[in-house]
Amino acid sequence: MRVVSTVMKLLGQTINSYTMGLADIPKKSLGFFPTPLVELKALTAFLGGPKLYIKRDDQTGLAMGGNKTRKLEYFFGDALNKSCDVVITGGAQQSNHCRQTAAAAAHCGLECHLVLGGDKPVELNGNLLLDALFGATLHYCGDLRKGEKIPDIFNQLTKLGKKPYVIPYGGSNAIGALGFVDAFEELHFQMKAQELQFKDIVFASSSGGTQAGLMVGKELFKTKYNILGIGIDKDEIEGASLENYILKLANETASKLNLDKEFSKNEVHLNNKYLGKGYGVVGDAEKEAIDLLARLEGILLDPVYTGKAMAGLIDLIRNNHYAKSDKVLFWHTGGTPALFHYNNQFK
Ligand SMILES: *Cc1c(COP(=O)(O)O)cnc(C)c1O
Repeated sequence: MRVVSTVMKLLGQTINSYTMGLADIPKKSLGFFPTPLVELKALTAFLGGPKLYIKRDDQTGLAMGGNKTRKLEYFFGDALNKSCDVVITGGAQQSNHCRQTAAAAAHCGLECHLVLGGDKPVELNGNLLLDALFGATLHYCGDLRKGEKIPDIFNQLTKLGKKPYVIPYGGSNAIGALGFVDAFEELHFQMKAQELQFKDIVFASSSGGTQAGLMVGKELFKTKYNILGIGIDKDEIEGASLENYILKLANETASKLNLDKEFSKNEVHLNNKYLGKGYGVVGDAEKEAIDLLARLEGILLDPVYTGKAMAGLIDLIRNNHYAKSDKVLFWHTGGTPALFHYNNQFK
């Protein structure tokens, strides 16, 4: 385990109690890591500072990339270890998580069932097209876009004699969040190599696993960088606000690693000012962010997550939230295939 070995090197003997937990956690390699950490020179010049950097998790290598690849390495490690023969997960119809899960299942030779929001469309496109190409079985569930029907599909498959493995909505439980504990370690060493210190690490936060994992990583490595999620979905998750869900998840992940840490709510930094007109609605701010990154940097953002989060970061910059000399990291979490589904928004 990468985290174990490095943390042991850093902290010596004192880490032994954590490693007892992590060393036993199975992981299946699915992506290409580390993802690049690069400067956004043209965007920095355009905005007049702070110095902006980007972590390219849109380039994780699995089926057009995205942050879910990191979580899926732990889920598929667990599923294969338990000899499951089918995985089930759910999300919105254009879910990036579902697309990466379908690809991982194909790669591992497991059957895949996706429990999706919306009705069966006339044409498949964007992520949904890719789900079908990967051979996933698609279940359409109308208004339910957070995998609410996963237990029903689980029961159906069990009755057929199969051994299903459930990956929760967004891949956000303590197993999935481990992928972002690893990710923090990866970033930490890239920062050391490039002699960088970031004031904030900014990203789109939606089902909480990314943020919870980064919070735990920050704690493991005793760093000060601020982990700043930009909320992109106002709806609750499992009956909790996203903030409370992240708190619960960070504590579960810490205890899975036998880390002696109890997070409090004021350690969850989630900015909900940029929800705009809601999940998946592309407003002017999102369009501007997507346009700027495309034209100035040749980088594609997505309409649902990274477009909103970058719009939020740009607004913070314009409101003088940062000093010119600050360094800020934008963690690109992927989502590019959804652009093709939103083609009508970009006339
Ligand atoms: C899922 C997703 C996120 C949010 O990550 P969470 O761990 O669910 O908070 C951000 N960006 C993209 C492109 C995603 O697919």
